[in-house]
Formats: sequence, structure tokens, C-alpha cells
Amino acid sequence: MLQVKNISFRYKKKNILEAISFHVNQGEHVSIIGESGSGKSTLLKLLYGTYDLNEGEIFWKDSQILGPKFNLIIGPDFMKYVSQEFDLMPFTSVSENIGAFLSNFYPKEKQERTLELLKVVELEAYANIKVKELSGGQKQRVALARAIAKQPEIILLDEPFSHIDNFKKQSLRRNLFKYLKEKNITCIVATHDKDDVLSFSDQMIVLHNAKILANNTPQYLYKHPKDKLIASFFGEFNDINGKLIYANQLKIVETSDLKTTVKQVYYKGYYYLIEVDLNGNKVFLEHHKALKIDTTVYISIIRQG
Ligand code: ADP
Ligand code: MG
Repeated sequence: MLQVKNISFRYKKKNILEAISFHVNQGEHVSIIGESGSGKSTLLKLLYGTYDLNEGEIFWKDSQILGPKFNLIIGPDFMKYVSQEFDLMPFTSVSENIGAFLSNFYPKEKQERTLELLKVVELEAYANIKVKELSGGQKQRVALARAIAKQPEIILLDEPFSHIDNFKKQSLRRNLFKYLKEKNITCIVATHDKDDVLSFSDQMIVLHNAKILANNTPQYLYKHPKDKLIASFFGEFNDINGKLIYANQLKIVETSDLKTTVKQVYYKGYYYLIEVDLNGNKVFLEHHKALKIDTTVYISIIRQG
């Protein structure tokens, strides 16, 4: 189990993280979310032992994770960390980058394992290409494969799919998270993408103003977004009489107390996002077809079970 006990950290004067506590069981997947600058990357770096804490302690099982004051080499053996910068060897091939952490005593096993890893990140065709010739997204995939090459007990991923295009992202995300679950590798992901969280995380931690604003399952936080920041992470939402209502929780009805006027219509593929005016306030709802600007529509909140 990973135990984060009351940690605080500042680079200079201002606390970036303040009294942060949480724990993660072996094999669990946790997302760290929060606005840009909220301290997600800093938290991952602290978990890896990159900096000395100002207060608190971090433990993985019985080993304490300590910063550079106490360690010559940063990062414990049982942990892998994929930073937002990748840290690859540019002049060697994709295969060599991935195999760098594998033993040379068993060449056949090394070759098989490298191929298995190339498959996870869908880079079989690039095995012999030099890393410096790859795109940003391809480099990110090499970094991911490197991190899981020698099975860590815990992996820290900082926005792991941020450079990967939508064509590849969905399948890569499924492959990687499935692989980590199968191998019972504990995974902590800093992200601002709800698709990294909803289908794959057991726990979701929201950072805001240096503190943990919420820590619960994605299912719970989706259904009970106690704060606008949390609701906005999941999608378009409205504040109707103090209640946070997602755009897909509103429907158009024959008549209701909520009389609105259509203001804008946005095509979204399988639905339209409709902006209406409700007593001078903007409200967004999802509808299966386009509506004419300036028409009057009545809306109602769908009860969710
Ligand atoms: P996030 O990953 O959530 O975007 P970061 O952890 O990168 O946030 O940054 C949190 C805050 O710490 C930001 O205000 C950022 O400017 C500051 N910060 C990050 N790295 C450093 C550093 N090496 N030195 C000083 N301040 C830093
Ligand atoms: Mg970051």
C-alpha cells in the first residue's frame, strides 16, 4: 500500500501542496486531477522522491520514500515515473530504448519481452527507428513502454497520452491500463482528461488550492459533483437554482416551469449542444436534433437513479 501522510511542499515561499493525505492499495488505479498549476506534477515528483518534503511522510509498504537529501539516486527500484518530458535516448532505436532496462543474460527472453512491449504501445513497425526521428506522440509511447519494461510495483504517469493523437489514444489507453491491471501494478496518473479517469480509475483525487478538494470513486464524484470545478471536469454543466445539472440531464418537454429561448446550436456528432436563455442565464442541454434560434422551449431535469 502507498501511504501519503500529511505532506506539504513548497518550491519557494508559497505552499504548492498542503497537508495532503491519501492511500492507494496494491494494484489500484488512482487519478490526480486539477487545473493546470494545481500541483499534479509536483505531487508525482514527490511520490518518486525527487524533492525533500517540507512536512509529512510517504511510504510504499514498509519503505519510506525519501528525497535527494537522503538518496544519491532519485527514484526507488520498485517505482517507475514517466514525466511530461519523456527522458529517452534519442540516438538509439525504439527497441534499444525499451530494452535498456532488460537483462542481456537472456537474449531470447529480452527479444520476446521487447516485442510484447512494442505491441502494448503499438510501435512494432518502428522497432528499428531511431527515437530522434519519431513524433512527440510516438516518443511518449516509447517512454510508456520503457516504464513498464521491468515490471515496477508502482507506476507514476504524468499526462501519459497528452501528445498522442485521437486516432491512437483510445486503443493505447485501453491496452496500457489493461496491461497494468493484469500485472497488478499500482498506477497513479496525473491527467486533465476525463476519459483517463471514468473507465479506468478506482479512485480520483481532486487538487485545488494546494489541498485535496475531493477523493472518491469517479462514479461517486460524477453523480455528486459537490463543486463546479468537479462538474466542469466531467462535461458541460449548469447551475440551476444552486444545483449542478449536466447538459445531458436536461430534456425538452411539452411544458414546464422552465421556459427558455434557444440562443445557439453546436453540432457534436451524435447530439447537438443547445444553448438556451433561462431568465437571463445561459443554460446548456443536449438534444438529438438541431433547433431554430429564438424559438421557445420548455425544459425539465431528468431524474437520475
Ligand atoms: P500541474 O502539474 O498541476 O500543472 P505543477 O505541479 O507543475 O502543476 O506546478 C504547481 C505549481 O508549482 C505551479 O504554480 C508551478 O509554477 C510551480 N512550479 C512547478 N515546478 C516548479 C519549480 N521547479 N520551481 C518553482 N516553481 C515550480
Ligand atoms: Mg503537470
